[in-house]
Amino acid sequence: MRDLARYAQLVLGLRLTPAQLTAFQRYESELIAWNQRVNLTAIDQPSQIRTKHFLDSLTCLLAMRDTPMERVIDIGTGAGFPGLPLKIVCPSMQLTLVDSVAKKTAFCCHLVNLLGLERVEVLQERAENVGRMPAHRQQYDWAVARAVASLPVLMEYLLPLVKIGGCALAMKGESGPAEAHSAEHVMRVLGGKLRRVMRVELPTIEEERYLILVDKVAATPDRYPRRVGIPAKRPLL
Ligand code: SAM
Repeated sequence: MRDLARYAQLVLGLRLTPAQLTAFQRYESELIAWNQRVNLTAIDQPSQIRTKHFLDSLTCLLAMRDTPMERVIDIGTGAGFPGLPLKIVCPSMQLTLVDSVAKKTAFCCHLVNLLGLERVEVLQERAENVGRMPAHRQQYDWAVARAVASLPVLMEYLLPLVKIGGCALAMKGESGPAEAHSAEHVMRVLGGKLRRVMRVELPTIEEERYLILVDKVAATPDRYPRRVGIPAKRPLL
């Protein structure tokens, strides 16, 4: 984990504690072990897990730190990215992890128990349904997602969950800037406003990476999110 410690310091100015590095080590071992039985991720080499999963997830902190992050929700979390790495370094946050696939939420639950993480809720549910539940709708300081859907679809998943004054964060590759600007109208329809497209550079990784930050400036109209499958089938224009 020395590479992760070095990169976190370099990219984020973050000094990971020995306890946090031990947690990441256990996360990595469990991910590799589970991945041999159930397919959770295509990234399964230790050095890649550290940069493309752990460090990449932690880059959300470039936008999140110094802002309220009491309640955070990660939509389409898969094997816990970016939510669980964020929770390991920010233990006071109340985190909700959402994925519709049972083997993925089972892995997240296993890891939460193994690492003794408190104030983490894991939901096997569709984002469209979570966005209509009073316990989750407009309750979050941050709604985050990586590699889940195109930006108009993702905005319909994320923005209903964010409270006014909070922010949606979409982690995107090279298409990020173009996607962000073409989705500005959709953001407005859902109560959001594009704040910033932030370029992120990671050591040893050539692909472009961006954080798309969307402020929640008004309530999301009641008709959104539409029912399961509709946002992806008929994305808002
Ligand atoms: N965020 C993780 C990462 O970056 O490694 C996983 C990315 S994976 C490509 C996309 C995940 O989103 C899958 O686990 C899938 O089950 C989940 N997903 C896609 N659409 C969803 C929806 N509408 N509701 C809940 N989960 C969804």
